[in-house]
Amino acid sequence: MDALLPTYARKAISFTHGEGAWLWDEQGERYLDALSGIAVCGLGHAHPAVATALSEQAQKLVHTSNIYHIQKQEQLGARLCEISGMEKVFFCNSGAEANEAAIKLARMYGHKKGIQQPHTLVFENSFHGRTMATLTATGNRAAHAGFEPLVPGFIRAHYDNIGAIRQLCAQHKQLSAILVEPIQGEGGIHIPSPDFLPQLRAICDDHDLLLMIDEVQAGNGRTGTWYGYQQTDILPDVMTTAKGLGNGVPIGACLTRTKANDLFKPGNHGSTFGGNPLACAAGLAVLDTIEQQQLLGHVTKTSELLLNTLKQRLSQHPLCHDIRGQGMMLGIELTQPCAEIVDIALEQKLLLNVTAGKVIRLLPPLIINNEQVELIAEGVARCVEIFAERQSN
Ligand SMILES: *Cc1c(COP(=O)(O)O)cnc(C)c1O
Repeated sequence: MDALLPTYARKAISFTHGEGAWLWDEQGERYLDALSGIAVCGLGHAHPAVATALSEQAQKLVHTSNIYHIQKQEQLGARLCEISGMEKVFFCNSGAEANEAAIKLARMYGHKKGIQQPHTLVFENSFHGRTMATLTATGNRAAHAGFEPLVPGFIRAHYDNIGAIRQLCAQHKQLSAILVEPIQGEGGIHIPSPDFLPQLRAICDDHDLLLMIDEVQAGNGRTGTWYGYQQTDILPDVMTTAKGLGNGVPIGACLTRTKANDLFKPGNHGSTFGGNPLACAAGLAVLDTIEQQQLLGHVTKTSELLLNTLKQRLSQHPLCHDIRGQGMMLGIELTQPCAEIVDIALEQKLLLNVTAGKVIRLLPPLIINNEQVELIAEGVARCVEIFAERQSN
């Protein structure tokens, strides 16, 4: 611990193993995981299909180089295009890297159109990663603090405010792209109006901008469709994903379509590890499992049950401001800051987190069953109860 830079205020707990939605700590205590390592382990822990794919691949080949053809990468690329409606893929190792690729594409697209200083429109309250460009794109001043000078080339608008966005895009001649989350995750589980993405699509078409959708958190089945934008009938020009794609094995992807397909030429972008056989074997196992186990339908059904159960137990509580969610991305917004709920939940052997100060965020594995839904709702309700008692003392 002492050897690590203090980038995280870590909880005094360490897990040794898991199975499905359960994790065990060093004392042998069992925890129900309603966070999935922040939207990563969608299939739950120690999933046999992923474990088998990894061990079989590790015994054959872990890494070569993108200097050569990589069969597993081509397979996963084709599969991702098939399920997303996108056409080309670049593989990397994280969400931030996937967004870096998107931001570089936006600049290339701008230059191709003759824009001298191409800008990307991003949103207040967004999260896109921790590298310099993605940190700048992130709409959270606290994340910027201390890292100035930030990267130029971004302008910011309010999420889900189409009127203002339309006006900005009409005025700002240096814009070449819009980067947007289909649901703001870190920002507090903000689900935009149903026509927000279609309206952004129309604005991008009107002004010849790339619509770039950040599916790092919402993607790979979490909202009940493969990708969040598939809740609408639009397609982006660029889509980024990571978190759930490898069920814990680091992998990210930046996908393109039509006018974004041929911007990068050999030498413009790259990654040493990106799309190596091991990570792609994991990605293929994840997508196959989501399909074979019909997890998209399961997520939609289970989400409704979880939302209803949470509402039954919590909506009358004086501290409860709002309960919202899509698929396995849910937020319970309280009327006041509630960071302490994370520790209270740990005492209840339940893993969740609090984001944007007062939103209890649930990102359970896609595979949770009805009994676990009850346990999560009951656990969250108990946490709010205990929190309220401690507040009044
Ligand atoms: C987590 C996240 C990222 C960053 O992903 P990393 O893998 O941590 O770099 C980017 N965008 C969104 C929407 C995220 O939730």
